[in-house]
Amino acid sequence: MVKVVKFGGSSLASAEQFAKVGQIIRSDKERKFVVPSAPGKRNAKDTKVTDMLYACYELAENEQDFRIQMMKIKDRYDSIINGLQLKLSLEEEFKQITANFKEKAGADYAASRGEYLNGIIMANYLGYTFIDSAEVIFFDEEGNFDAEKTDKVLSARLAECENAVVPGFYGSNPDGTVRTFSRGGSDITGSIVSKAVHASVYENWTDVSGCLVADPRIIKDAKPIKVITYRELRELSYMGASVLHEDAIFPVRKAGIPINIKNTNAPEDEGTLIVESTCQKPEFTITGIAGKKGFVAVNIDKDMMNAEVGFCRKALQAFEDNGISIEHMPSGIDTMTVFVHQAEFEGKEQQVIGELRRLARPDVIELEADLALIAVVGRGMRSNRGTAGRIFSALAHANINVRMIDQGSSELNIIIGVSNNDFDAAIQAIYDIFVETRL
Ligand code: ASP
Repeated sequence: MVKVVKFGGSSLASAEQFAKVGQIIRSDKERKFVVPSAPGKRNAKDTKVTDMLYACYELAENEQDFRIQMMKIKDRYDSIINGLQLKLSLEEEFKQITANFKEKAGADYAASRGEYLNGIIMANYLGYTFIDSAEVIFFDEEGNFDAEKTDKVLSARLAECENAVVPGFYGSNPDGTVRTFSRGGSDITGSIVSKAVHASVYENWTDVSGCLVADPRIIKDAKPIKVITYRELRELSYMGASVLHEDAIFPVRKAGIPINIKNTNAPEDEGTLIVESTCQKPEFTITGIAGKKGFVAVNIDKDMMNAEVGFCRKALQAFEDNGISIEHMPSGIDTMTVFVHQAEFEGKEQQVIGELRRLARPDVIELEADLALIAVVGRGMRSNRGTAGRIFSALAHANINVRMIDQGSSELNIIIGVSNNDFDAAIQAIYDIFVETRL
């Protein structure tokens, strides 16, 4: 059995953190393939190496002196190397990187050096083979990840290795230049590597003990989620819960490989297991709660709306033509409401209303701003009667006015609209009723 282990930036921010990671890897022989991020923040005020590289490259691109910034980056790596007492010098690497910066090798190349260099250190520290991701992870002409080519080359290459370090976050374009995934993309690399070696599990090591039932900034000591399905996770991350890069799910999900989110600073904690499906009963009726603030509800009324064929299409056209994405669309007999992002909508408000009038000829259009959407997600809701009732009585007890209700046909989630000001209190009330009182 083989495990792929990906370590995030905070797990690799210093020699001390590297040592913890070393211990984790060495404690399990199955942890054969390692995907490191770049060194992250050592404390709240620190800067991630990736951000230092972007800033440094910007100077290079504007033909300004970037030597001091480059030195500071080198210092971060040197302190790890020295702290681990490795016999390794990155002198030549930094000469090459400096020369490439001068030749304007691109911001993607610049940023990718964060994981590239960390990968070299990690391989040296563990005695594992180092594989440059530019040689095994590919993007196509349009800049999209080329899954087929990557899988072929990567699995052949990894089959030759007993163990290896494959740096996260980047690969190469068809012309050989470096390209990165979007920010946080080392999660994707971990997933791709897991698929290529048919891992039994993809361990994603970070600085929290897994996904929590609710945002810890709102709920103090929020409980961890032990097992969550991919679909539940997708619903929660769409609503703002951030654990994993969204695109990291696809490769492993397709291959039937579970993801285990683990904490480098508390390796004994079970963490969260993300699976395709499970017959394990969830600990609570709900799996998680997440939400976002800053929506506008556009209420559109028209007498006999339901009898008018094509009304919805015309109304929605007004949003589409203005490039506004629609979040939710609950409807009544002669009314429909369209939820949009306030920040996206504000600048185009009058154009949208004008076009709505022209295309759909409604009787009334009303706008309501400063709304929040909260998703209560859980595979357990389907088999439990009265979940919605419990949510609404909890909200009523907390004196919260519910502005919108939307239950997806999958019965996997219930989405509730409340005013921005009630956001935290609403999440607290729902959390308490399901988790604290275990109703
Ligand atoms: N180092 C990159 C970033 O900061 C990628 C990653 O850490 O996943 O976004």
